[in-house]
Amino acid sequence: MRITLLGAPGTGKGTQAAILNKRLGWPIISTGNLLRAAVEAKSELGMEVKDLIAHGELVSDQIALDLVRERLEQNDCHDGCILDGVPRTIVQADGLEEMGLHIDYCLLFDVADQVIISRLAGRHTCLACGGTYHLTNNPPREKGICDYCGAALRVRPDDQVKTITRRLEIYRERTACLIDYYDKRGLLRVIPTTDTLEETTELVLSVIGAK
Ligand code: AMP
Repeated sequence: MRITLLGAPGTGKGTQAAILNKRLGWPIISTGNLLRAAVEAKSELGMEVKDLIAHGELVSDQIALDLVRERLEQNDCHDGCILDGVPRTIVQADGLEEMGLHIDYCLLFDVADQVIISRLAGRHTCLACGGTYHLTNNPPREKGICDYCGAALRVRPDDQVKTITRRLEIYRERTACLIDYYDKRGLLRVIPTTDTLEETTELVLSVIGAK
């Protein structure tokens, strides 16, 4: 099964993707993580996208689709995969279909803007494996260290309040139209805010029939 996690930045997509990956064994395809890895590696792609990401702008549809295509070549997605942060535009959604990646469910993480801003402002991210934490809501076991891979946690450059506001704007302008896109295809499932990460995971698992 192929699911895509849709929602504004800070709605918990990456956190749930990591939990679902552990529970279901499906690989995560996160274009954000792939792009950050390219920036860290100072590759040609990394140099090209660094400033765009730091300012909260989207990279081109072509780049996002190429990253997904390359990742699919690893051939470990036969049982399922979790798309996190892609597609982000209608062009990308169509592009995924054209490359044969048919989405079974689009899960919309529905969270109020104020909650998003407070979550992002306290977020620490592992640039090695993509694990995300929150200083108070979801701290790592050991301060500053990723639970999953032991690498040092960092604050993402695009998690500054000014950039967060821009990322929310971009989400509304370019990405939110995917709600309608997947709804029309009967694939949209709304995941409301719950009190705990575990409740959200259980909700997701029951919505996609994986429980
Ligand atoms: P994320 O980790 O999903 O929040 O993505 C971080 C940043 O990477 C975004 O703000 C964009 O600059 C870029 N990015 C990630 N995924 C995409 C995508 N599918 N299309 C365009 N830009 C993306």
